[in-house]
Amino acid sequence: MRISSIVRPSRRPIPGKNSVRYFFSRYRSDRPARSWPFCVVAAIGLLGLPAVAFAEDSLPHRLYSIEITGDEQDTAVSLTFDRDPELAVKMLRGPERLIVDLPATAFEMPPEDVLPNGLVQSIRYGAMDQQRSRMVIGMRGPFTLDGPEKELREDGRYTVSFDLNLASQNAFETALKERLASASVVTVSTPKSERLPSNSPERKPFTIVVDAGHGGIDTGARGRDGVKEKDITLAFSLELKRQLEKIEGARIVQTRVDDRFIALNERVRIGRQADADLFISIHADSVRQDYVRGATVYTISKKASDAMAARLADSENAVDSVAGIDLPEEAEEVSDILLDLTRRETKGFSLRFARKLVDSMGEVLLMIKRPHRHAGFRVLTAPDVPSVLIELGYLSNDKDESLLQDDEWRTKAASAIAAAVAQYGEVREASLR
Ligand SMILES: [Zn+2]
Repeated sequence: MRISSIVRPSRRPIPGKNSVRYFFSRYRSDRPARSWPFCVVAAIGLLGLPAVAFAEDSLPHRLYSIEITGDEQDTAVSLTFDRDPELAVKMLRGPERLIVDLPATAFEMPPEDVLPNGLVQSIRYGAMDQQRSRMVIGMRGPFTLDGPEKELREDGRYTVSFDLNLASQNAFETALKERLASASVVTVSTPKSERLPSNSPERKPFTIVVDAGHGGIDTGARGRDGVKEKDITLAFSLELKRQLEKIEGARIVQTRVDDRFIALNERVRIGRQADADLFISIHADSVRQDYVRGATVYTISKKASDAMAARLADSENAVDSVAGIDLPEEAEEVSDILLDLTRRETKGFSLRFARKLVDSMGEVLLMIKRPHRHAGFRVLTAPDVPSVLIELGYLSNDKDESLLQDDEWRTKAASAIAAAVAQYGEVREASLR
């Protein structure tokens, strides 16, 4: 029995250009819907028409559902068809998209199936001509792709699934290049604008992400004279950037340069997507003990080094919910050997950098007792970016509060941190040689 005869769809017209439907969340509410089908056809027409073999059966394939699950780090997509679809996928940049080329397809999934979710920002779909259809999956940023994998289900339907993973720009470019090289079904030549730059540098720049803690609706701690932690961290981050720019070949990325709220996982995402070598989160919190003063360097650990560190991490981790953002479920413990190895290696780098920071800062600044501590700060959870959180001082202490607002102190502290970054960079450079 031929697979295609298991489910015999009722005869329906082959979708032509007039039947193009579209979904593009950005334009849904503020543009007149009628002008869009043409634009969408024109836009996807420009992408080139790959040769996709189409089913012998003249009826279009039926796409029953699109399931998008996961989060903004890893998003799984699965498409359910009435029968075996021959399809090809292709990654595109500028902006990052995934193209799924299909045989003629009747898109019968419910409208809510194409709502943005996780890394998927938009889904458009429609007919390319009488034999071919296409889906254009707009992504939130650089990504890598696992799959697609096809599966014949017990009910005779076919599921095609693939995983989209958040990636750095470098990883995305590499994946795109590999996909182009190995694409056997897609035979179209690459338009000029999509070709890889031939002068892409051999080695990426030494990249440091400076993360000014808190911001916007999340003010962070407050000093006795009313100064807000979010303003102190921003002023310090701008000065730190100036100091770091003195390091030759360094690229500085800031998570914020003005007074705005940024969720913790967004900060982590910025670090990962920048392919950062270091992530430095700047804070100046309050603690219960108002006699505690001096700077502290925190690295990540499941078990906190002490009660103060544990409480601090708890209050830092709660800022998203204070700002009205649902906290994600605790990530399940998955045993992934490669990820564990990466994490362990990254942790080693974080510790090494933290020690350099403590030495360098300790020469010119007052540090608290045992200045290197650890706790489960969510902002430090990137598995592949060495990360530290620096408490410059504590706003619960009067003396720290006035120091934190002193221009001279700020410059001195920022240059001590920059010196540690420069040392770390030299060691890293040597290890890459
Ligand atoms: Zn803070």
